[in-house]
Amino acid sequence: MSATILYHIHGIRSYTYLKQKLVPGGIEFYIAAGATQLVCPCCGSTHVWQKGTKERRFRSLPLGRKHTTIVLLVPRVFCHDCKTTRQIKISFAEEHKRYTRFFERHVLDLLLSMTCQDVAEHLGLSWDTVRDIEKRRLTRDFAKPPLKHVTQIAMDEIAVRKGHKSLTIVMDFQSGPARKSLALLYIFSMRKTRKC
Ligand SMILES: [Zn+2]
Repeated sequence: MSATILYHIHGIRSYTYLKQKLVPGGIEFYIAAGATQLVCPCCGSTHVWQKGTKERRFRSLPLGRKHTTIVLLVPRVFCHDCKTTRQIKISFAEEHKRYTRFFERHVLDLLLSMTCQDVAEHLGLSWDTVRDIEKRRLTRDFAKPPLKHVTQIAMDEIAVRKGHKSLTIVMDFQSGPARKSLALLYIFSMRKTRKC
């Protein structure tokens, strides 16, 4: 049953379900990586030797009002080809992140109708974590905007942080249904210079 929940609710597959544990305010799922996942994260070689493990914890989708944590002993491997020792890649979370991709998507869904502060309080996260998730989504979506069909642009400048910083926004003027919305192309961030 729990392996099914891990797969369908949390997007975790190819890992072995070990046990679950109720803790104050939440539930922890313990999983283990299989032998087939012992691959060098640098060069992809399977000519590796396991060199210990490191426990890592990942926030995942809540079950009702309970926080869910995925606990995984991440194997460290020594690669005989590139001579490096690293942790193996985790398929359900981004590198260096302490939450799963499904949890990240849940945060982004909530941000569609809530502020960063509301989402942080609702999920028991720090404001910085929520903001980081939103910033990475913006970077993914707008780092390389398609410019091929852009014929007209609109520009505007807004002040943020009480005027200490200004943002120049560049938009595709021809996009959107009946021009009601403008597709964002670029945001230039500029720190205002202090007047003497
Ligand atoms: Zn390698």
